[in-house]
Amino acid sequence: MNSVNSFITADVLILGTGISGLTSAILLAEKGLEVLLVTKEADLAETNTSWAQGGIIFPGPEKVKGLAHDIQAASSHTSCTKAINPLS
Ligand SMILES: Cc1cc2nc3c(=O)[nH]c(=O)nc-3n(C[C@H](O)[C@H](O)[C@H](O)COP(=O)(O)OP(=O)(O)OC[C@H]3O[C@@H](n4cnc5c(N)ncnc54)[C@H](O)[C@@H]3O)c2cc1C
Repeated sequence: MNSVNSFITADVLILGTGISGLTSAILLAEKGLEVLLVTKEADLAETNTSWAQGGIIFPGPEKVKGLAHDIQAASSHTSCTKAINPLS
C-alpha cells in the first residue's frame, strides 16, 4: 500500500475535470481562491465533456426556442422533462 507523506492544501477541492469542474475552477480562481482539481482518471481529458462532439448545451442569456423539443427528439423522447425544461 502506498503511503502519503505530504499534504496539499487548497481553499476548494473540486472532483472532476469535465466542463463542470473546470468552469467551477476558473470562476473560483478568478475570485482569488486556491483550487485543487482531482479526477479519478490518469488522463485529465478522459471525461464525457471530451466526447461531446456537438458542443455543450447550456442555458445562456437567451433561451433557445424549440431546444426542449430537439433534445427530446434526439433522445427518442427518453429525456427527463424536468431536467431539460429550464434550457428552453
Ligand atoms: C458520446 C457523448 C456525446 C455527447 N455529446 C454531447 C453534445 O453534443 N452536447 C451536449 O451538450 N452534451 C453532450 N454530451 C453530454 C456531455 O458530455 C455531459 O453532459 C457533460 O460533459 C458533463 O460534464 P461534467 O463536467 O458534468 O461531467 P464529465 O465531463 O463527465 O466529467 C466528470 C469528471 O468527474 C470525474 N469523476 C467521476 N467520478 C469521480 C470520482 N469518484 N472521483 C474523482 N473524479 C471523478 C471524471 O473522471 C471526470 O473528470 C455527450 C456525452 C457523451 C458521452
